[in-house]
Amino acid sequence: MKYNIAVVKGDGIGPEIVNEAMKVLDKIGEKFGHEFVYNEVLAGGCAIDATGMPLPQETVDACLASDSVLLGAVGGPKWDNLPGDKRPEKALLGLRSALGLFANLRPAMMFGELADACPLKKEVIGEGLDILIVRELIGGVYFGERGRRQTENMGEEAYDIMAYSEKEVERIGRVAFEMAKKRNFKVTSVDKANVLETSRLWRSVMHKLKEEYPDVEYNDFLVDNTAMQLVSNPGQFDVIVTENMFGDILSDEASMVTGSIGMLPSASLGEGTRGLYEPIHGSAPDIAGKNMANPLATILSLGMMLRYSFGLMEEAEAVENAVKSVLAKGYRTADIMSDGKTLVGTVEMGELVKKELN
Ligand code: NAD
Repeated sequence: MKYNIAVVKGDGIGPEIVNEAMKVLDKIGEKFGHEFVYNEVLAGGCAIDATGMPLPQETVDACLASDSVLLGAVGGPKWDNLPGDKRPEKALLGLRSALGLFANLRPAMMFGELADACPLKKEVIGEGLDILIVRELIGGVYFGERGRRQTENMGEEAYDIMAYSEKEVERIGRVAFEMAKKRNFKVTSVDKANVLETSRLWRSVMHKLKEEYPDVEYNDFLVDNTAMQLVSNPGQFDVIVTENMFGDILSDEASMVTGSIGMLPSASLGEGTRGLYEPIHGSAPDIAGKNMANPLATILSLGMMLRYSFGLMEEAEAVENAVKSVLAKGYRTADIMSDGKTLVGTVEMGELVKKELN
């Protein structure tokens, strides 16, 4: 099979980590008889430098014409002082919305080999951690009406409106239930139904939906309680589904529990099979160009692409197992380094994963 992939390397460590991921994907192609064709396009700071815009139309068109999109990271100090709508990060929101990517899947898993990097006590973490956070990505307060107005005697006032429709809730809820069926059959829906009207609608839609999935265990959690439970008893969760802003915050918290930002992939999906796959971390300008970045989050993002966009389960597992083997052999980039392990750079780590696929 031939697959067309739009590649957005982006800024900072983006090009370094994406290059390693592409090497691994080429190896998968060679081993399993697939052809991966890359179309490299610009987004973020490098696109601002080249075209004046963070997300050129050409990039959107190339992504829409592709079978899937691989992204490194965008942003950096060079572009930090630009106004909001000209900033590199605007490219991410633009791409998500142009591609209709309403579901963000962020696995927070702890690799046994990296248990020492977990900031929680061993008795809290128990057998390990394997949570999938399903976050609604193109609705809620981040996309609602916003503005400022003058009040009579309280000075200027700013507002951001949070709105959710039944359809928006149902489609993200369905993603969560379907994912749970491929995992441990448990969905936790997170809201703030004791205060917010959007949450009350969210909860009622979820309750209707759960009737369609009698084999999946379901429960409702308030967002504040979830934030606490993620650090006191994270092992209780399988799939967590929530709205945009709660998901943004909780997924960062969950990833910190695993202790390694350089290890965590993500997928953003819409109605079809095309998705956007990227590591959860940013462009790490502090280590860019130093062959120090951990490419494993990007390589694991590719694994998610093989699984969710192309339905290539065996190939996805091969990537994940290759990463595990390299870790088991004691190779580490600087961010996950510990005593007695072998320190390697970005390129070496990519080569080691590729070698495991021989
Ligand atoms: P960051 O994730 O880039 O870096 C946080 C820390 O983690 C840094 O110390 C960095 O060196 C380290 N780190 C991150 N990824 C690593 C990796 N693969 N290997 C080793 N170490 C790694 O977050 P930040 O410093 O807050 O942001 C830097 C820039 O990235 C900003 O311009 C920000 O807006 C942007 N950003 C982009 C995305 C994205 O493209 N999706 C996400 C978050 C931040």
